[in-house]
Amino acid sequence: APQNYDVVVVGSGGAGLAAAIQACDEGAHVVIIEKMPTIGGNTIKASVGMNAAETRFQQLKGIQDSKELFYEETLKGGKFKNNPQLLREFVELAPEAVEWLAAHGIELNDITITGGMSIDRTHRPADRSAVGGFLISGLVKNINKRNIEVLLETSVAEILTENGAVTGVKVVDEYNDSRILNAKSVIVATGGFSANREMVVKYRPELDGFVTTNHKGATGSGIAMLQKIGAETVDMGEIQIHPTVEQTTSYLISEAIRGGGAILVSQAGQRFYNEMETRDKVSAEIIALPEKSAWVIFDEQVRLNNKAADEYIAKGFVLSGASPQDLAVKLNMDQDALLATLARYNQFVEQQNDEDFGRKTALRHPLNLGPFYAIRIAPGVHHTMGGVTINTDTAVLDAEKQVIKGAWAAGEVVGGIHGANRIGGNAVADIIIFGILAGRNAAALARH
Ligand code: ADP
Repeated sequence: APQNYDVVVVGSGGAGLAAAIQACDEGAHVVIIEKMPTIGGNTIKASVGMNAAETRFQQLKGIQDSKELFYEETLKGGKFKNNPQLLREFVELAPEAVEWLAAHGIELNDITITGGMSIDRTHRPADRSAVGGFLISGLVKNINKRNIEVLLETSVAEILTENGAVTGVKVVDEYNDSRILNAKSVIVATGGFSANREMVVKYRPELDGFVTTNHKGATGSGIAMLQKIGAETVDMGEIQIHPTVEQTTSYLISEAIRGGGAILVSQAGQRFYNEMETRDKVSAEIIALPEKSAWVIFDEQVRLNNKAADEYIAKGFVLSGASPQDLAVKLNMDQDALLATLARYNQFVEQQNDEDFGRKTALRHPLNLGPFYAIRIAPGVHHTMGGVTINTDTAVLDAEKQVIKGAWAAGEVVGGIHGANRIGGNAVADIIIFGILAGRNAAALARH
C-alpha cells in the first residue's frame, strides 16, 4: 500500500535538509529520500562559507555592507545573466537565512571574502573550518531532534502527477524494489550535474577530460525528472570550472586560502592574474599557461588563519620550505623569480595597491613568515548554474511560466540565480535561503 506524506523531499544536501526542517516545523509530515548511502550531498564538500549582506555578524565586526552592493556584485559576477527577481529575493532573504541557521545552532559568525566581492561577507564557522561539514552536521542534529524520516540508498525515479498536479513519487530502494509515496508537495533538492560527464559534455564539449570536484551523486537526475512533468530549464550551458583543484584527488583547494592572502604563481615563478577575480576568469588564465596549471602559494600567517590549510597538509597536497628559496627548489622553480615575485607582491601589500594585476581585496599581509607553502592546482568542473526554472516561491515553472502545482525546487537543481558564473559563498546561501522557502511553501500547500 502506498505511504502518505504531506511533503516528500528529494535529496539530503543543504537545500533538502533545510526544507525538511522548515516543512516539519510548519506542521507537515515529511520524508527525505536520498539515493546515496550517506546524508549531505555535495553540500558536505562546501568549503568557503555563506554570503550575506547586512547581517548581525557583520555588524558585530564593524563591517559596513549593503544588500544593494551584494546584488550588484553578484549580478556583475554572473555577467548580468542572473534572473533579477530570484537574485533580489536571494539578497533580501540572506541575512534572515544566516539568523535561521544561528537559531538552529549553526552559527556562522566569522567572516571572510571570495572572488568578485569587494567586502567581507562570506560567513563561516568561528573556528574558520570548512562550512560544509559544519552545516550538514548541524542540520542533521535538527533532523534527528524532529524525528524526520530519512530513507538512504533510495532514489526517486519519477514524480507522479494527476491533472497537472503532483500526487507523489515513485521510489526505488537498494534492493531495486519500487513503491509509491503519496504527497501533495514534492521538493526537488537533488543538486547539480557536475559529476555527469555525458551531460556536462553535451552542453560544453570543451570540458571533456576535466576532473570534477563533485560527489558521485551529482548526476542531474532531478532536472530530468522535472522536465518529464513539464518543467522548463534555463542556462544549462553555464557550467563553472573552479580554478584551484588538486588534480590527483580532484580535491578543491578553497578560495578561503586566497581570501586569506595567498597568491597564484606560474611554474615560471610569476604571478599572472588578479587572484581575487571571479572563478571563470581565474580558470581561463590558468588554462592559458603553458603547463595549464599553477601553484597556490602562501606563508605561515595564512596557514594560521585558515583551518583548511592544515587539512591540505594532512592530505599530503602541500609542499613546503623554510624559506622562499627552499620552496622554489621543491617546486622546481627558478629561485630568483619566486623571490622577486614575493618581494614585489609584499610591496603591493604595504602600499595596498597591486600595480601589476589590480587585486583590490585580501591584500592581507606580506607573505614573509616561514615556512612557505605551495599546492599545485588546475581547474575542475565545479558547479552547474543552469537548471529548472522556479518563481520566487520556489514553485517549479513550465515553458509558459505557469506553476506545476505541488512541484518545488531549491538549491543547485535550480537555474537562473547565479547567471553565467556563481560567486564563491553564494551556493551555500542559495541552498539555505531557498531551502527554507521551499519547506514553508510546500508545507502550506500540503495542508490545504
Ligand atoms: P544542494 O547543494 O542543492 O542542496 P547537494 O548536491 O548538496 O545539493 O544534495 C543533493 C542530494 O540529492 C545528493 O545527496 C544526491 O545524492 C541526492 N539525489 C540526487 N538525485 C536523487 C534522486 N533521484 N533520488 C534521491 N536522491 C537524489
